[in-house]
Amino acid sequence: MIPFEYRRAADAQEAVATVAARPDAVFLGGGTNLVDHMKLGVAAPHMLVDVSRLPFTEVEETPGGGLRVGAAVRNSDLAAHPLVRQRYPALARALLSGASGQLRNTATTGGNLLQRTRCRYFQDVTTPCNKREPGSGCAAIGGWDRHHAVLGASEHCIAVHPSDMAVGLLALDATVHVLGADGARTLPLADLHRLPGDSPERDTVLAHGELITAVELPPASGMTRRSTYRKVRERASYAFALVSVAAALDVDDDSGVVRDARVALGGVAHKPWRAGRAEDVLRGAPATEESFRLAAGAELAAAEVRDGNAYKVPLARNTIVAVLRDLTEARR
Ligand code: SF4
Repeated sequence: MIPFEYRRAADAQEAVATVAARPDAVFLGGGTNLVDHMKLGVAAPHMLVDVSRLPFTEVEETPGGGLRVGAAVRNSDLAAHPLVRQRYPALARALLSGASGQLRNTATTGGNLLQRTRCRYFQDVTTPCNKREPGSGCAAIGGWDRHHAVLGASEHCIAVHPSDMAVGLLALDATVHVLGADGARTLPLADLHRLPGDSPERDTVLAHGELITAVELPPASGMTRRSTYRKVRERASYAFALVSVAAALDVDDDSGVVRDARVALGGVAHKPWRAGRAEDVLRGAPATEESFRLAAGAELAAAEVRDGNAYKVPLARNTIVAVLRDLTEARR
């Protein structure tokens, strides 16, 4: 047991100032990931600053017709929100496919984005892991790599990001509101998470002490209202994605040509993966199975596989195609 101090922040500014001033302090949201890590010895903060009771618990429409989701909104509440279900079904589905009901009742929007990889070596302090202990090595390279990355990995880390919610948000072009010691800033969700490179210990671009205060969805459209999320996993519930796909398609009714496409992948990379190459192939192409296969192939052409995870490439290809086919058939 490592002793730690617990503080409940009176407001966001106090929370940020407290954590920014202490390298050994961290924010505590729902705690569903952090507390596990403290028990396992993966994390040993000396101060927890509780931000779960800050006034970031609302889902509100923005003046432009989008949706602003407070960082402390629980995953269950967000999944059940009528505007999310009607306007952004990919997000509702992604949330409901994550974790268990009990965990979703506790986990927060901000915490979900910041959850850490479930690489088994990261969670086992007896093994080398560059993410947990920089410079110690990577036990997954040459080890058990069945759940690991096929896109964007490095020689220092091949872990994948575990969030379902983040994949749904990425396909919906969400932005993230952040408060730091130097003030507030907004960044696209696509820029929040990092690839591992030579510093896999850093999951995001956030500085120490920066607090996520909200996530914002742009105005809904016919495309976002028909968006969807599919997750492939090893059992029917309470399992992380082997591969997941969030997608939305805008197809011209007369010509059958794709006007716009959004595709994001989970379970394949160190960060939620925007499938920009696939989107480029889809735009202007007929909404046919052949186009969907070409798009998936373009995205996965850069995949690098290992002994245990080669199955992810055909799995991702087939899941992309199936999701795009479902979206096309649903509009008929
Ligand atoms: Fe650690 Fe990343 Fe290697 Fe897993 S893949 S052992 S998280 S460095």
